[in-house]
Amino acid sequence: MNTDREMQPLYDTLNNMLRAESSCGFRNTGVIGGLDKMIPLWEAHARNSNVSADFAGEVTTSLRNYPSLSIDERQVAVRKMAKLLESAAEDRRTVPSPGPEGPRKRKQDSGVNLDSPLTVIHGIGLKQSERLKKLGLERLRDPLYLYPHRYVDYSALKPINRLQYDEELTVIGTIKETHLQRAKGGRMHIVRTLIGDGTGEIECSWFNQPWLEHQLRSGRQIQVSGRTGMYLGRLVFTNPEWEELDRSALHTGRIVPMHSLTKGISAKNMRRWMHTIIEYVTPYVRDPLPEELRERLELSGLEDALRNVHFPNSQEHLSQARRRLAFDELLMLQLGMRLQRAEWQAIPGQPLVVGDKWLHEALAALPFTLTGAQQRALGEVCGDLVKDVPMNRLLQGDVGSGKTVIAALAIAVAVRSGLQGALMAPTSVLAEQHYLSVRSLLQVIPGLDLGGDELPAVCLLQGSTSPSERATIAAGLRNGSIKVLIGTHALIQGAVKYNNLGVAVVDEQHRFGVAERAALRGKGDSPHLLVMTATPIPRSLALTVHGDLDVTIIDELPPGRQPVETRVIYPGERERAYTFVRSQVSKGRQIFIIYPLVEESSRLQAKAAVDEHARLQEDIFPSLRLGLLHGRIKPAERNDVMAAFRRGELDVLVATSVIEVGVDVPNASVMLIEGANRFGLAQLHQFRGRVGRGEHKSFCMLVSEGQSGHRGAIEDKSDRRLRIMETVSDGFALAEKDLELRGPGEFMGTRQAGYTGLRLARLTDLHLVHSARREADRLFSEDPNFTKPEHKLLAEQVHELWSPVVGDAD
Ligand code: ADP
Ligand code: MG
Repeated sequence: MNTDREMQPLYDTLNNMLRAESSCGFRNTGVIGGLDKMIPLWEAHARNSNVSADFAGEVTTSLRNYPSLSIDERQVAVRKMAKLLESAAEDRRTVPSPGPEGPRKRKQDSGVNLDSPLTVIHGIGLKQSERLKKLGLERLRDPLYLYPHRYVDYSALKPINRLQYDEELTVIGTIKETHLQRAKGGRMHIVRTLIGDGTGEIECSWFNQPWLEHQLRSGRQIQVSGRTGMYLGRLVFTNPEWEELDRSALHTGRIVPMHSLTKGISAKNMRRWMHTIIEYVTPYVRDPLPEELRERLELSGLEDALRNVHFPNSQEHLSQARRRLAFDELLMLQLGMRLQRAEWQAIPGQPLVVGDKWLHEALAALPFTLTGAQQRALGEVCGDLVKDVPMNRLLQGDVGSGKTVIAALAIAVAVRSGLQGALMAPTSVLAEQHYLSVRSLLQVIPGLDLGGDELPAVCLLQGSTSPSERATIAAGLRNGSIKVLIGTHALIQGAVKYNNLGVAVVDEQHRFGVAERAALRGKGDSPHLLVMTATPIPRSLALTVHGDLDVTIIDELPPGRQPVETRVIYPGERERAYTFVRSQVSKGRQIFIIYPLVEESSRLQAKAAVDEHARLQEDIFPSLRLGLLHGRIKPAERNDVMAAFRRGELDVLVATSVIEVGVDVPNASVMLIEGANRFGLAQLHQFRGRVGRGEHKSFCMLVSEGQSGHRGAIEDKSDRRLRIMETVSDGFALAEKDLELRGPGEFMGTRQAGYTGLRLARLTDLHLVHSARREADRLFSEDPNFTKPEHKLLAEQVHELWSPVVGDAD
């Protein structure tokens, strides 16, 4: 029999009384009748329960003479009590106990463990558990890592006469009266309650919760949290949270966690269940961090951190909790990348043959001369390919810097050596484009046997590829008659088997995860891997994000490129922009118009894009040929549109952000971006990179939807940010700016590193990032195989988090 839970309300009541008293400035008005009158009542309860006699005694002695103390002395007494309470709470915390609100089956040996279903929790039935599943909650352990998506801080407590308009806080008072009012012909119920605390009174109203009339009986003491509003010149609370005073506060009077909800699950129930589960489960959580490390870095224990991230006792507790949990995420990221690299490189690769003479001939056959930066990159890539350690290299270069040709040459080396090459792109539009450009490069490179003029040994595989074609490709890959495969995620799906994959290239790596990379590698006998990205990672972060890769940077654009002239324009200037578009089309150029569609559903997005396209076609550009691209259009159709645009059969391409990466149409000269404020600078730079790829002078127009509204007005922050685009054309500099202005999320989602474990950690928290890296290095050099007992849990966790998951893009 455990009395912990029964004691809890007693502690909470005392705690609430003390807080109420301190919030009213120690004037002995915090609780009705004064603290000195309430304490004996409390003590009587305490003596009947298991609260220790010492503790109860101390409470009474300290507070008995409360009215006769000076304000300062009262303050000291209350503070002392609060301290005492806190340490009592700490003591109790060391005993794990399910209690009456815990699982119905009480003990671990009764079969309840972290993997038990949520239905073992009192109050969660089959129906609720089905609903919770939608939030990813199935097992008892799941809620631990479903962090609140935000918190509302109701910990500020004030007497009613000191309330101000529009404050988020808590008041404690006694219910004076409650009545139910009907409005709108009886269809609406309003419960109005007047509460008072001795300093004043305030009205609270709740809409459409008629049952509250019976719960909010006069005389009850309640705690109310919300934002103060104004009605008929008086301060009021509308739909505030409320709780009885002698309950352990979950929804009021504290930092209240807010959870993502789903249909049929109320915020209050969710919070209550989360609390029950967290309280029950945390004591069984095993902390993977060795104690020595935790102490050295002053990180809180896992149990404590989890408790406080879910139900923080204070802002400080919360930030400590987040720091600890963020550290774990970063450490797992670092350890995982090191492990991947170590595992990957432990298997010998296949050394390929790069003949100098052949390479010379190949370069001479290309339609252009490589830039210095491309030559250096090629040198590094070839240097890797001839080794028996598999290449593991990131090729980073601004949009238009010419990464594709490096990929094509690496693939050519594989083919020359009798092996296969593969290139994987994030979208089918890009895959097809790569297919065309890599094909035309392979066509001119000498010494490759690709089956004849039509290059039948080079194939395209994507989501829309028909089953019969797939079967043919699968057979060709297995018997080795297909030498080069280009495509989307389809390349790494189960059915695809290679004869002997020598080089695998992944383009626009930020759309792919490490797991997908690993899957691609797994398709071959340790193929060499080249990862290409146009997303510039600030140098300060490169090592962290690409800890598993060697990095090559192409920092030079091919000659003759003129910077894209960029202008921020305002909605009132759209007409002029349209006129400019028409004049460019009359010169034979082509135009992109991008819409930032923000609707939640892709169906609505598609509708908005369709409407915009129709409006532009009918009202603005009736005589031009417009095409439309958005995520809902079937891949095959999307490809048709793209191909038509590439062939010059369309003048204007209206698109959502599906166009973002890599599309190469040298004849396009204008990029017009609507709602430009909604994009990050790095992303805008990606869009802008779609023009200025040929010999024509090119333009980028960013339509601002910022607050300024028109030229000459005082610019708001987001317009100033946009304006950076007008002068800066270097992707790196823009990425640094983005990082500074918007944080890393913009260009570096959690998928960036292919690891979904980053939820609390911010990569801009360089201090924490660096210490995680240092610790990962230390762990690896001390115990590379994680064989020490104190590293066992860490190893388990890393392996669990990094087990490959393969997605499906198309
Ligand atoms: P990205 O790095 O963005 O993938 P691409 O490989 O698509 O760039 O190259 C952009 C354009 O520049 C292509 O049309 C390509 O043919 C051309 N290009 C690449 N390298 C050179 C070069 N050294 N000289 C001239 N044009 C080049
Ligand atoms: Mg590219």
